[in-house]
This record gives sequence, structure tokens and C-alpha cells, in this order.
Amino acid sequence: MEIINPDGRDYHMHSLNYSDGLNTIDELVHWAGVFGLQEIAITDHSQATLDKCNFAKKGFRGTVQTERRWQNVHDNGVNVIFGVEGDLLNEQGDICDHIQGKKGDFLILSLHKEIYSGDFTKVTEAYCQAIERFGQQINVLGHPYVLDSYQQYLDIEAVTRKANEHNIPLELNGVYLLKGKVDFAQLDRMLALADRIYVNSDAHTLHELKNAREAGFAYLRERGYL
Ligand SMILES: [Zn+2]
Ligand SMILES: [Zn+2]
Repeated sequence: MEIINPDGRDYHMHSLNYSDGLNTIDELVHWAGVFGLQEIAITDHSQATLDKCNFAKKGFRGTVQTERRWQNVHDNGVNVIFGVEGDLLNEQGDICDHIQGKKGDFLILSLHKEIYSGDFTKVTEAYCQAIERFGQQINVLGHPYVLDSYQQYLDIEAVTRKANEHNIPLELNGVYLLKGKVDFAQLDRMLALADRIYVNSDAHTLHELKNAREAGFAYLRERGYL
């Protein structure tokens, strides 16, 4: 198993500008530099989540392409990618991959229980269909082993194999480890089979930006992967 970002790169975090992070993009970039990161992807939740969770409408993204005008003024060399944490919507494998109609440069595909409106007994099919249909655009499958009742229906080995076939890495997500919201049997099955993984924070706070990835590496050490 290859770890794509064992160094100072973190490809999953949320901002105040576009979704439910506590910090602005500029705060994230400043503190990323302080915490020794060289590259980050700001991956706010897709429009499906923004609508469903009633997040207040904040920064414009679709119309003026704000992030094309944004530049890193912090003089810390942190490279910033503007992505999206997309949502898996149903067992047909439909996804929501945009914010205000605008796609990002890095797409995480995640299932969030509140947003998925399909049949939970068919979550394996949902992932596999989405990979078949949108595999070219998906950069990583986000946290597929979250502790929840639908895990009993998720054949994570089938999903991991399908991701491998399409050259899509899987994610070891730091925040869910910090929160203890992990189906560890499923995570271990995923790690045993995955060709490539990202270790990302999924930070919604500066504390998580600083510490969550380390929880991922600690788990990998514990399981003998490092
Ligand atoms: Zn997520
Ligand atoms: Zn997230």
C-alpha cells in the first residue's frame, strides 16, 4: 500500500467561506504554513450538503470564481488547491460534485448519511456505480468506513477493489479517528486491500488541521503499516 501524502500535504479540509469549517481560507493557509504543510486542498461540502444542512450562504464561488483571484499573501509557500467534498446520492451512483455550480480541482467522493437518499442496503452498488460513472473525476474516496448502521450493508472489500481498478485512492481520515467514529473492522479491510491511500485531516478547526493527520499515522503505525 502506497501512502500518497506521507509528508506535509493535506487534501481534505473545510472553510468558513464555503461550508462548515470554523476558519476562513486565509486563516487555514496561514496556519497550514505554521503547522509545516506545503500543500493543502480546501474541500468544502458540495451543494447537496449545503442545501440540506442549511449552511448559511457565504462566499460566492460559482459566479465570480473567487478562488481564481485569490492568492497566497502569507509568504509561506503553501500551495492551495480548491476542491470539493462531493456527495454520493443514491444507489444509481449519482453524485453532487459542485459548490454553487462550480466544480473544484480536487474531488473527494464521500457518503454522508444525511445526504444519501438511496437505499442503504445498496450502498455497495452506490459506490461501485459512482466509480464506474465518474471514476475519471474522483481523486479519492472519503472515509468509507465511518461507524454507522449502513456499514453492515457495505462490502468494503468490493468497493476497495473497484477503486483500485479505477486507480482511485482511498482515504484514511484523521477527524473520524479523533472522534472515534470508525468501524475499525471495515477500516482494516480497506487498508489490507487498498493500493493507495491518502492520510487527510478533514479539518473543520485549527486543532484538527494541526493534529488529525497524526492520528492517521499513529493508527498506521499501530497496525504495522509504518
Ligand atoms: Zn465527509
Ligand atoms: Zn470533510
